[in-house]
Amino acid sequence: MRASPQVLIVGAGPAGLAAALFLSRRGVPVRVIDAATEPTRTSKALGVNPRTLHLLEDTGVTARILAEAQEMRTLFLHHNGEPLTTFRPDWKALGADHPMVILPQARTEALLTEALAGFDVAPERGKALTAVSQTADAVTATLADGETVATPLLFAGDGAHSTVRKALDLDFPGDGWDEPWTLMDADIDGLQPDQGWIDLHDEGALIVLPFSGRTFRLIGFGRPLLDSLPPDWTVGTIHWRSDFHISHRTVERMTVGRICLAGDAAHIHSPMGARGMNLGIEDAFVYAACAADFLGGEPGRLEDYNRLRHPVDAAVVDRVRRLTGMVRNTSPLADWLKGVVPPLLTHLPFALNAGLRVGMGLDHPVRVR
Ligand SMILES: Cc1cc2nc3c(=O)[nH]c(=O)nc-3n(C[C@H](O)[C@H](O)[C@H](O)COP(=O)(O)OP(=O)(O)OC[C@H]3O[C@@H](n4cnc5c(N)ncnc54)[C@H](O)[C@@H]3O)c2cc1C
Repeated sequence: MRASPQVLIVGAGPAGLAAALFLSRRGVPVRVIDAATEPTRTSKALGVNPRTLHLLEDTGVTARILAEAQEMRTLFLHHNGEPLTTFRPDWKALGADHPMVILPQARTEALLTEALAGFDVAPERGKALTAVSQTADAVTATLADGETVATPLLFAGDGAHSTVRKALDLDFPGDGWDEPWTLMDADIDGLQPDQGWIDLHDEGALIVLPFSGRTFRLIGFGRPLLDSLPPDWTVGTIHWRSDFHISHRTVERMTVGRICLAGDAAHIHSPMGARGMNLGIEDAFVYAACAADFLGGEPGRLEDYNRLRHPVDAAVVDRVRRLTGMVRNTSPLADWLKGVVPPLLTHLPFALNAGLRVGMGLDHPVRVR
């Protein structure tokens, strides 16, 4: 007979799936529920960073990701359409075991789900949590279909609009920016599949990242995306388009009694730096260690999770906010600086590498104690 679940995982996004996998590997029985009836089809996060690949190495998922993913080898930087500099990151010199690779989030989630199936765990879909309460000894979750679940621990990986965060009445302080940003996945002739392209122009910015084959991810603001492309590029099918606003927020605390929050439920920020999904997987890794120890008889370990993750996540949100703030500043002085600072950085490897480490998830250690 299967052991009864010790952790109810709410949300089968990257954070919830990774938590389920890391806990299963530690021998903790889990149950995963998700409100959606089907897995994600849209490809939100694209960059899987070296930190995530390192954390997932022992699960076998890293090898699967590397077999499918595309490495980004070259990044061309432009200012108002004029070439500024070209970056070719040397991952090994930055201390990474793996490069930064590109894989649509839907595929990363599928590979995590496949690995989880090896532990006989499958996300239960169409099961939404609607309410949650707890005592000193247990958590009670109410689901939309009327089921009531009593569980020793609950992991909230239920995304930016987290029902659990709201039910706990947790503050989610931060700010949002008014200008609309656009995201588009489009077929383009003009770049190679391992190349990225950025134009910091005087009305905003355009970022073009490899997606898969001829398809590229375009993100930007201030001007219609396609108007900023070089005239000799050809645009084919547009597969997906989404308009969004950027907010930066970190929940006031990530542990409340026997409930812990992770991923977008706990922190949101701009896609610059590609940290969203990766940071949630880091949370999941640390949570699994803390929760397993708690269930093994170390009562302080759930509070450890908050102590270990909250300052790290808050610092990343702040760093990404400052980085995005520089890009979105279109004042004449900022525009002038965008034309002079990037080429300077190529002569200041220390400063350049510090920036690259943010995107690679190597700007802080991932501690479980
Ligand atoms: C348009 C867009 C583009 C993005 N681009 C990037 C990018 O380029 N790089 C990057 O790193 N990040 C990007 N992100 C962010 C990234 O997708 C998120 O950081 C990541 O998905 C967070 O993972 P998560 O598991 O915390 O939450 P989610 O992926 O949001 O998963 C939450 C899950 O919880 C489920 N759920 C919600 N409420 C309930 C409930 N009450 N009961 C049960 N289940 C529930 C949902 O159905 C969902 O499956 C992008 C996001 C968007 C929207």
